[in-house]
Order: sequence, then C-alpha cells, then structure tokens
Amino acid sequence: MNTEPCFECGLVPELLDEDLTCAFCRIGLFLEDALMKMNVKFTVETITHGDVEIEIDVPEEFLDEDNELRDEDGLRDWLSDNDDEWWELEPVFEEIQSKEAIEISNAY
Ligand SMILES: [Zn+2]
Repeated sequence: MNTEPCFECGLVPELLDEDLTCAFCRIGLFLEDALMKMNVKFTVETITHGDVEIEIDVPEEFLDEDNELRDEDGLRDWLSDNDDEWWELEPVFEEIQSKEAIEISNAY
C-alpha cells in the first residue's frame, strides 16, 4: 500500500506511478503533452433568426379580394428581393441559431 503523496496534486493514492504521480494526474499530464497552445484567428459565420416589423406597401398580387394575404411564399420572396426596405431595421427579437468556424486566417 502506497503512503507517498502524488508529486502533482499532493494526495496519497493507492498506487503511485514511478514518476510519483497518481493515475488522475498522469492522464492530465499526458493530455497536456498532446495539446499545443496557439493563438488562432479565424472567421466565424453566425446565423441569427430575428423578427422585424415594418409598415410597407405590399403588391396587390399577393392579396385576395378582401385585402388579406393569400400568397405568403410570394410575399416572402418579394421581401427578400426588396431587402433595401428593411435591411437597416433592428429586429425586435433575435436569436443565434448557429455559429460555425469558416476559415483559418492565422495560427501561431
Ligand atoms: Zn495526483
């Protein structure tokens, strides 16, 4: 039964390795060896979904005879084509959907 403390953490493990570390610290040291600290600069693509609201002149082709919206997909495409109308609007609600590393620009 081991009575010597671990060189790294100071605890007295049941088994002490030849290098005087316990199993837990030995794994930690091994993982540290397999990693290399670097400064990495990279481009991130962030996709957010947000709600905006705007009073806007909608083409009548998307409405029915009661002036109710009947062509939701058509209006959506029209809004995308006319993004200068709402591009600057601050969303009233916004949520990040995903972040993705796109391209490494530097690592040293
Ligand atoms: Zn230890």
